[in-house]
Amino acid sequence: MSAARRPLFMAFALVFFAGAPACRCAEEPLPQDGIFWVEEKGEHFLLYTEYETLDVREIMRVAEKFYRSIAERLKFPRHDDFWMWDDRVKIYLFAARETYLAQTGEPEWSVGMADYAARSIYSYMDSPKFLTSVLPHEIAHLIFRDFYKKENELAEPPFWLDEGVAQWAEDKETKDELKKLARETLEKQGLLTVSDIVLLNMDYVKKNPDRLYFRLARTVKGRYSIIILSPDVLLSTSYQEAGSLVGYLIETFGAHRFAEFCREISREKALSNALRGVYPKHFQSLDDFENGWRAYLLQK
Ligand SMILES: [Zn+2]
Repeated sequence: MSAARRPLFMAFALVFFAGAPACRCAEEPLPQDGIFWVEEKGEHFLLYTEYETLDVREIMRVAEKFYRSIAERLKFPRHDDFWMWDDRVKIYLFAARETYLAQTGEPEWSVGMADYAARSIYSYMDSPKFLTSVLPHEIAHLIFRDFYKKENELAEPPFWLDEGVAQWAEDKETKDELKKLARETLEKQGLLTVSDIVLLNMDYVKKNPDRLYFRLARTVKGRYSIIILSPDVLLSTSYQEAGSLVGYLIETFGAHRFAEFCREISREKALSNALRGVYPKHFQSLDDFENGWRAYLLQK
């Protein structure tokens, strides 16, 4: 309902960095000057560490488990020899966080990254939630990209869908946290609108770290307000809300329909058309989608 989109009051909030997204996807292979990698070969992964450690067996076991479970849970089909032999995904684990940041050029908040072109995942040995969050998150990015590119080689997945899928592949604790944080944001200052989340230009925000961003938020009572966000808060809020949007679709309507929805988006359907096509009884517009998501967050 377009008339209701008019801001009813103006609230100004300056919010500073309060959390960070888990990863970023690189566009180019990384330099790894002067590092001697110890290689461990698995069925679908090659694991590289800076020194020999017994941990590699556990990491490989968990990676193989996620390889099977993530595609199955998200209902992204795959063929038998997927990610095998020369197509195995490489996991690089630096010995220390400092080396990881220096070698990858990642921002301070980064704990892991996936490089689709190089089919590689990068993180570091004592990354606190590596096995439960970082590894499934980055594997999900690569599985989702494969799925998406299979449908349309030239298409790039939108930020919110790519990051939403990756976050929803993490452990149950992360899923619960995503929903809880989105609900708290809704109750405190209001959620960013769906339009703002899906139109976010992440690269622009990263390249302009010194400016502030004006965004439309909608309070729990349905009022619209303008909030002013620092780049870090805009990114972390958008990541969090993207994760809960994907969670809403999967938990409410199932993974099969969600995969079909992603397929429609990869065919360059506009978001509102894809929603209408896959969820015709529930969404006729972006407003319906946003209202359904907000109601889901407020469920007890
Ligand atoms: Zn990510």
